[in-house]
Amino acid sequence: MTAETKSIDTLVVGAGQAGVAMSEHLSKLGVPHLVLERDRIAERWRTGRWDSLVANGPAWHDRFPGMEFEGLDPDAFAGKEQVADYFVAYAKQFHAPIRTGVEVTKVVRQTGRPGFIVETSDGTFEANRVVVATGPFQRPVIPPIAPQDASLTQIHSADYRNPAQLPEGAVLVVGAGSSGTQIADELRRAGRAVYLSVGAHDRPPRAYRNRDFCWWLGVLGEWDKEAAGPGREHVTIAVSGAYGGQTIDFRRLAHEGMTLVGLTKSFKDGLVTFEQDLVENLKRGDENLFLLLDAADAYVERTGIDLPEDPAARYIPPDPECVKHPLRELDLAKAGVKTIIWATGYALDYSWLHVDAFDEKGKPKHQRGVSKEPGVYFLGLPWLSRRGSSFIWGVWHDAKHVADQIVTQRKYLAYRDASQRSLDNVRAMKVEAPTAKDAQQINEMGVI
Ligand SMILES: Cc1cc2nc3c(=O)[nH]c(=O)nc-3n(C[C@H](O)[C@H](O)[C@H](O)COP(=O)(O)OP(=O)(O)OC[C@H]3O[C@@H](n4cnc5c(N)ncnc54)[C@H](O)[C@@H]3O)c2cc1C
Repeated sequence: MTAETKSIDTLVVGAGQAGVAMSEHLSKLGVPHLVLERDRIAERWRTGRWDSLVANGPAWHDRFPGMEFEGLDPDAFAGKEQVADYFVAYAKQFHAPIRTGVEVTKVVRQTGRPGFIVETSDGTFEANRVVVATGPFQRPVIPPIAPQDASLTQIHSADYRNPAQLPEGAVLVVGAGSSGTQIADELRRAGRAVYLSVGAHDRPPRAYRNRDFCWWLGVLGEWDKEAAGPGREHVTIAVSGAYGGQTIDFRRLAHEGMTLVGLTKSFKDGLVTFEQDLVENLKRGDENLFLLLDAADAYVERTGIDLPEDPAARYIPPDPECVKHPLRELDLAKAGVKTIIWATGYALDYSWLHVDAFDEKGKPKHQRGVSKEPGVYFLGLPWLSRRGSSFIWGVWHDAKHVADQIVTQRKYLAYRDASQRSLDNVRAMKVEAPTAKDAQQINEMGVI
């Protein structure tokens, strides 16, 4: 430890919504901590998303309990900048100790004693605990099937901003979760010919019987589900708040001019081949929709709650041509496809975190965010404790649990047995008591 090394009880890495929530709970519980963020607060909402993105959930739902969106109708969908501004204001509200522009580059265990040495772009810290809040979606992933074809522009959805950014011509969007579907829809509305490659997906209704699907998932206990069902880990969810919020209906998008294709299989000599699973994928998506509608109806019946009937929600448009006769392959040049957008998800990157908190596949090993390495905690990961964990409303509750766990551990470590206590008394008699000024300085530094 050098003279410049700073000590802190708990160091939180990342100041997205997870880091802000963590800081709020640690503050409430009086745990000295510091949040380090390499960019700005909630940076990913500002620069890691496309321009027109709005939250997937309405403003009354996609927020923390402690503050509402100012000046926004609770049923409206906040724009991405409004979401980022919200977290900046939220952090300000409780004076969150966040330092921006500081990247954590390495975390290693102390040798022979608890705690960690944390190297950053602004010096070294010693910390008893590290909370990893670096996001559920860190490194954009483009699958290895992507063609090596210099004539094509290929970007990940993380780098998509707006239609004008792309070269003229048709676009193949691979992946039909919330991102792929919204981007494909925006491009089609901008006059582009669009091919959307649709895999397994859930597509809940945007609203049913006068209630948003976020409400339904809440009252039906779906946000609190602890794990995705077997084989459903890679099923994406197609939902959108764009254009006022509409149910994602792939057949409707096709009737409006989009060409739906099955899962993208391979590329060879300018030809892209698709799995023949489009019809099956749409059918399963419909089944998922009906499952929620049926569960909602059963809830209404059981509780007697007064909500209007909504038969239109069950309407499935007739199959468009691209579903009746799905494309097996597409000649990209002939179809005028100049761009491929890979809406194919993200991976985690913990190359800076040198601790024993991972399984054999390199995935964080934890129980509700408490890792197997004492003192290391994860927050904001998909399914960390439940379905809602990686979302705005869910992470706040997970942060509360992690903060409680930290307090419990601090209490254990503060315990001293009778012999230590009497030794302490003897020492106290020999050492001068700290002055009030000393005590204040110690408090301000949050020194361990
Ligand atoms: C397109 C898209 C739309 C979404 N829409 C919604 C929605 O509508 N509603 C909803 O609830 N959820 C939504 N989500 C999911 C989730 O809410 C977001 O991904 C959210 O950004 C996650 O917050 P986080 O704090 O966990 O992680 P992030 O927002 O990713 O924040 C992590 C922070 O850590 C910082 N960081 C990373 N590494 C380091 C390091 N080594 N040192 C210092 N700092 C570091 C990053 O700069 C970043 O600011 C969406 C996700 C995506 C991709």
